[in-house]
Amino acid sequence: MEKLLKKHKFSPIDGKKGSKLVYRVFRGKTMAVAVLGSEPLTNGFNMVASHIDAPRIDLKQNPLYEDGPSQMACMRTHYYGGIKKYQWVSTPLSLHGVVVKKDGSLLNINLGEKEDEPVFIIPDLLPHLARKEQYAKNLNDAIDASKLNLVFSGMIEPESEEKEAAKAFALKALNKAYGVTEADFLSAELQLVPATPARDAGIDASMVVGYGQDDRICAYAGLTALLDNLDTKPKRTMIVYFSDKEEVGSQGATGAHSVFIQDFVGELLAYKGEDNSAANLRKTFMNSQILSGDVTAVVDPNYPNVHEKQNAVIFNHGIGISKFTGSGGKYSCNDASAEFTAKVLNIFNDAGVFWQMGELGKVDEGGGGTIAYILANLGSEVIDCGVGIMGMHSLYELCSKADLYSTYKAYKAFLATQ
Ligand code: MN
Ligand code: MN
Repeated sequence: MEKLLKKHKFSPIDGKKGSKLVYRVFRGKTMAVAVLGSEPLTNGFNMVASHIDAPRIDLKQNPLYEDGPSQMACMRTHYYGGIKKYQWVSTPLSLHGVVVKKDGSLLNINLGEKEDEPVFIIPDLLPHLARKEQYAKNLNDAIDASKLNLVFSGMIEPESEEKEAAKAFALKALNKAYGVTEADFLSAELQLVPATPARDAGIDASMVVGYGQDDRICAYAGLTALLDNLDTKPKRTMIVYFSDKEEVGSQGATGAHSVFIQDFVGELLAYKGEDNSAANLRKTFMNSQILSGDVTAVVDPNYPNVHEKQNAVIFNHGIGISKFTGSGGKYSCNDASAEFTAKVLNIFNDAGVFWQMGELGKVDEGGGGTIAYILANLGSEVIDCGVGIMGMHSLYELCSKADLYSTYKAYKAFLATQ
């Protein structure tokens, strides 16, 4: 994203003054981008906010071990976010992340995406021997989290003095390829994700199947919408915000609960020469309107009963709008006001955007949240709207290209609202 922004003449906000196109990356994980408007920012901004983390499997801090019975070098993992564990076995995985070496240098790992690179597998149990271990258990318990161990390597270090010759070989190979030692894993952040790229899906190629569309599809639509608004001379400032850690509760320095987004807007106020006191920063958020751009669930042909069809989102009918999310009796949700909901619907109608209003699923069927309420806590008007996804949180999420296009158009029109 940073590369793309630089191509469009954006600069880091702490860089040279005078540009109307600014952004800030915080701790390499969260980011905000602004196109400054001509009127005071204190009057409020238009924002599209999405998240760029996705459910995945992380390596543990002390991951590598030699498994005695199989004599293989393996890695222990800890899953991140709401995954269905059975989906992650018997599927090619690639390894991504960073290792900080003893001398402080940062090593980026990206292994398994290219055709000629090795991938990794968490083996599943063969059906022949799964009767007691898996078939007798319920779906959630059939794959135990402690059994999501990765087969890392199988060669042994010849004539090794060490008892664990397979682990010794793995460490030697790691050191040769990356200069990494076993102690470097203690601080590393390494993640496993599906190794298969996104592809067209369906005989009509009207869909895209791919990992991580929750919520990079809305992040992509938001950024593209902003960049395609650059030829306008906006009065109101446009912001797109990409948050981290949404899948685990939006906590920490880079999650939506962090002060980062408030600090960014405070910085924008100062940059524009406006009052950036705490009171005026609060006022700015209270004058602002935000689309929480996150995916929602569409009706799945195999499981239509989890939706209430009068209030469900379906493929190819446009961006899905949720006045509220949460679970049970609207617990933990942002419930957009009637006034703001009507305003957003008018914006979409005027721009010729296809949209549909829908809930995530039937009442009491389950539920889910977004970052909408976190931003609404700052006093802004916020509503959830984004692409409806089939198989959300799976390795291969499915979306409709038409819905993605409607979402892009919706975000573009909203950002440009004066
Ligand atoms: Mn999401
Ligand atoms: Mn999610």
